[in-house]
Amino acid sequence: KNGVVIVGAGHAGVQAAASLREEGYEGPVVLVGDEKDWPYHKPPLSKTFIKDGEAKPQPLRGDTFFSGHNIDFRPGIRVERIDLSQRRLDIAGGDALPFDRLILATGSRPRPLPLPGADLAGVVSLRSLDDARAIRDLSASASDVVILGGGFIGLEIAATLAAGGRKVTVMEAADRVLGRAIAPVIAGHVHDRLVGGGVRILTGTTVSRLEGDNGRVAAAVTSTGERLPAQLVIIGVGVVPNVELAEAAGIVTGNGIRIDQHMRSSVPEVLAIGDVANYRHWATGGDVRLESVQNATDQAKLAARTILGHADAYAAVPWFWSDIGDMKLQMVGLTGGSDQCVVLGDAAENKFSVYHYANGRLIAIESVNRPGDHMLGRKMLGAGFSPTPDEVAGGPDAMKAALA
Ligand code: FAD
Repeated sequence: KNGVVIVGAGHAGVQAAASLREEGYEGPVVLVGDEKDWPYHKPPLSKTFIKDGEAKPQPLRGDTFFSGHNIDFRPGIRVERIDLSQRRLDIAGGDALPFDRLILATGSRPRPLPLPGADLAGVVSLRSLDDARAIRDLSASASDVVILGGGFIGLEIAATLAAGGRKVTVMEAADRVLGRAIAPVIAGHVHDRLVGGGVRILTGTTVSRLEGDNGRVAAAVTSTGERLPAQLVIIGVGVVPNVELAEAAGIVTGNGIRIDQHMRSSVPEVLAIGDVANYRHWATGGDVRLESVQNATDQAKLAARTILGHADAYAAVPWFWSDIGDMKLQMVGLTGGSDQCVVLGDAAENKFSVYHYANGRLIAIESVNRPGDHMLGRKMLGAGFSPTPDEVAGGPDAMKAALA
């Protein structure tokens, strides 16, 4: 018995190893990851970790977790090839690792931005703890920071570094920040509040080149010809899934590794979970690849159940959060197809929620500093319950009464 090998020791891979044991799997479990650091939480990296000071990474599991659960954790090891016919992985350095079942939890990596000057020192993107250390070190001596991309990670970093006294400019090619992800009223609120906090945001603007000085970045030049001084440039224009291993083995991909509702790829003994997995969503019928801790965790739990012979299909309600300065954003459900909204609370107080409906059914809730709405929303959507717009307008008590 060669047992289960998991590639990638991030949120998904670590949870899969833990869940195999929780579900009673008794065979060998090997967890291989190419990072040297002990597995850690990623979300704090763009929030608290890069503040001035000595914040420590937050471990995903304690020191003795893997040994205590008989999980063979091998950090700092890169898998280079999957040999499906031999059911074997080729490891960097020439070793091989046999498997009965394989879980690919290889995550995603920052989308590169082809740009003159992108290779200058001081130009970075943020995915790993090592990246976050680099940003913290570089920002210690930077007074001007330019962030390319106005998505969640870019805006989180902008808020953190601006609060630390840096002059921060965010450049976003689209006509608003958080464009892909969120209701315009929330995106507008986040924009205005960041600007109020001293962040400069240039929407509808791209960068045409980065200028250096002795090999270090010194400025970013915009598409309109403005020259912005910058000792630190952070590229945050999204991610691409790490599909290369699967692709080379002939496993079906398409914006991620294609999986079924049991987390199985086109090769049934190979499963895929987390940022790298693309699947037909049970609620919308569309294909999605979600980048969230919730998705990584819940898919990992289900993959373990699949391996143990259970037949339950993936049906977790998606949720996500982002902390941008003094705004705690929380989302539950998927907003695609939203055709009617009800707003609760008051943007002027920095506390409000947007309830999205499609064809008369509640599909998603997005909140700013209203965690109670988010938690109740998870309950309602998890139970398949749709309050009427009037019940939503009546506030949490009316919704709770309707749900009971
Ligand atoms: P990852 O955590 O990326 O883990 C994949 C691992 O596999 C990596 O360690 C990688 O190095 C390794 N690997 C890849 N290829 C190989 C190989 N060939 N051999 C060996 N190892 C390999 N989500 C939220 O819900 N809320 C947030 O607030 C939030 N904030 C975030 C902030 C930042 C800065 C980042 C980067 C992400 C954030 N996310 C957030 C997203 C969340 O962290 C990801 O969705 C989650 O990490 C996905 O887990 P994963 O295990 O699929 O991938």
